[in-house]
Amino acid sequence: MEYEPTIGLETHAQLLTASKVFCSCSSNYAAASPNTLVCPVCLGMPGSLPVINQRAVEYVIMTGLALNCRIAEFSRFDRKNYHYPDLVKGYQISQYDLPLCRDGWVEIQVSGGTKRIGIQDVHLEEDTGKLIHVGGQSLIDFNRSGVPLMEIVTKPDFTSIEEVREYVLKLRRILRYLGVSSGNMEEGAMRFEANVSLHPAGVAEKGTRVEIKNLNSFRALLRSLEYEINRQNQVLQQGGKIDRETRGWDDERGVTFVQRSKEFADDYRYFPEPDLPPLEISREWVEEIRSRMPELPDERYRRFLSEYGLSAYDAGLLTDDRPIADYFEQAVAIAKPRGIQPKTIANWITGELFRLLRASGTEPTAIQVPPEQLVELIVMLNENSITMTSAKHVLEVMFHTGKAARDIVAEEGLLQIADANQIAPIVDEVIRTNPDAVAQYKGGKETVLRFLVGQVMRATRGKADPNVTAELLRKKLSA
Ligand code: ADP
Ligand code: MG
Ligand code: ZN
Repeated sequence: MEYEPTIGLETHAQLLTASKVFCSCSSNYAAASPNTLVCPVCLGMPGSLPVINQRAVEYVIMTGLALNCRIAEFSRFDRKNYHYPDLVKGYQISQYDLPLCRDGWVEIQVSGGTKRIGIQDVHLEEDTGKLIHVGGQSLIDFNRSGVPLMEIVTKPDFTSIEEVREYVLKLRRILRYLGVSSGNMEEGAMRFEANVSLHPAGVAEKGTRVEIKNLNSFRALLRSLEYEINRQNQVLQQGGKIDRETRGWDDERGVTFVQRSKEFADDYRYFPEPDLPPLEISREWVEEIRSRMPELPDERYRRFLSEYGLSAYDAGLLTDDRPIADYFEQAVAIAKPRGIQPKTIANWITGELFRLLRASGTEPTAIQVPPEQLVELIVMLNENSITMTSAKHVLEVMFHTGKAARDIVAEEGLLQIADANQIAPIVDEVIRTNPDAVAQYKGGKETVLRFLVGQVMRATRGKADPNVTAELLRKKLSA
């Protein structure tokens, strides 16, 4: 029998607030020594009292709005009770039946067009400490304890791993545009739990699901889904049945393994957090947050198509990263009065600039070439002051040094030689030293001309105007 998968995803995104969610300790623990960003609240000392971080609540509401959710008028925190060494309080402050946001959706591109993935809820909770296992000992770092986590739970709407992939990339793009999370999956700023079930093809009812916990990277998420779908398929093909259980992911062996039978809400003995007042969220506040939202990636993509006449491919590349989209628009604004088309700017960015970014591993926010200078470079090219070869070289120097285009051209003597009288002696020299090529050309092999132009370019270090050069060569060789 053939089975089809159903997947639901829970994503934990670390919020980019300066301080933790219930105390004023810094939440920027990346480079801090262990246990230096702690206080009685995030260490869970008896008698200490949490205070809610307003910014964290705003970020969750903003995300909810971006994901087309209903924002709760009344919300509260609950205690989720469980014991684990990285959670000294014995409970995590989370949200249970009254999350901040509910019932939204996000659109993804799939092979057949667009598809809506339902969002069950978006809520706020605190992160736990971190266990570090070394040499048979376990150490605990509480710097991460109390860092705000936003949990985004989808409905069971995915029917393939490809859809999950598209969703995660889309979600990350939205979070980055909003500035609420770095979305850096390699650094654990986005972590996942996936629910997977299989049902016979053509049957509406979903199968029994398994939850895979602690997927700390994008790669782990995708690999674990592939493994788990295959595993369940094998069990079912052999007439077995799937147990409702929680499985872990062994990244080294590439397998999921049973952690425990599924825990249910009762096991956590949820109850309203008595140390925090419930939240009443006024519609004015929601609208005020909405008014501060930036243009989202989808809207920006559509605007790039209509306003700048870009291809879908270019618009996609340019809006993938907000800093790149900003850079493009700044350059376009400067270029417009100088008669340069948006498409030309797009080509330079998606071609040469992306190549330089990739080769050097530079973040788009750290581009040293101001948009003005990119435009200046294109102007020089359009004026025929420099050749295309020189222009690419100048961009590379600008990229690494931050120097101005005109300064580099002056320093390196790159002004194009368009004067036929200056190029003629070099053409003569090239004809003299390449008798074979000349013979081939005269024998009718016209493509050899390109080689000869190349030789002149080499001799002038890319400065000779290629059109003037080709014209001269043609004239002299037919004489
Ligand atoms: P839990 O208490 O187990 O966390 P939730 O209702 O919060 O239950 O759902 C967790 C996740 O399980 C959601 O992302 C949801 O989409 C997903 N899910 C629900 N039913 C199924 C199913 N039959 N197959 C796969 N995923 C499912
Ligand atoms: Mg869950
Ligand atoms: Zn603290």
